Amino acid sequence: MFNLILFGPPGAGKGTQSEKLIDQYNLIHLSTGDILRSEVAAQTELGLKAKELMDRGDLVPDEIVIGMIRSKVEASLDANGFIFDGFPRTVAQAEALDTLLNELGTSITVLLALVVEEEELIKRLLNRGKDSGRADDADESIIHNRIAEYENKTSPLIGYYKEQGKFKDVVGTGSVDDIFNRLCESIDVLTS
Ligand code: ADP
Repeated sequence: MFNLILFGPPGAGKGTQSEKLIDQYNLIHLSTGDILRSEVAAQTELGLKAKELMDRGDLVPDEIVIGMIRSKVEASLDANGFIFDGFPRTVAQAEALDTLLNELGTSITVLLALVVEEEELIKRLLNRGKDSGRADDADESIIHNRIAEYENKTSPLIGYYKEQGKFKDVVGTGSVDDIFNRLCESIDVLTS
């Protein structure tokens, strides 16, 4: 299996690039943000719990997202591999993912980190907020909170994956196609 983590702060372009990568490499896209938003839309018990946190730009508890990912992965064991988008977001999530993949006889191949500076992130998110309908994109103070959550809880994963020799950073600015080509170059080196 080829298992990729697409990593980066909110607004880095993980969702956009995941859509292109799944076609190119025949992978399954698992976005915890998308899964959570569908739970919110369906007004499930989980969705109702998560909504308040998401609207504030806070992370949802680890047990919730870890359970969601486990059931999605176990439902697609015949896949070529997965793109994890927006997951893991804490060290506890990364450890749980390693355990899960290990149980299945596989592992993370690489983490590709999209690097975009903060000013550009805020610009992109406010712009997306004009038509995304997402409460967490509409307000600059919530965007700042999401970036702070990233800095405090998610960026430590860089060290976690560097220690495993699996970290690779990729310039996340320029055209969507330029960024996609850079990601593909990094993947093709690993799979050739
Ligand atoms: P973005 O990358 O633009 O912040 P996402 O769609 O990945 O957007 O996430 C939206 C919100 O969903 C997050 O702010 C958080 O509340 C919640 N969320 C998504 N993934 C996770 C995760 N792995 N752990 C905790 N909360 C998460």
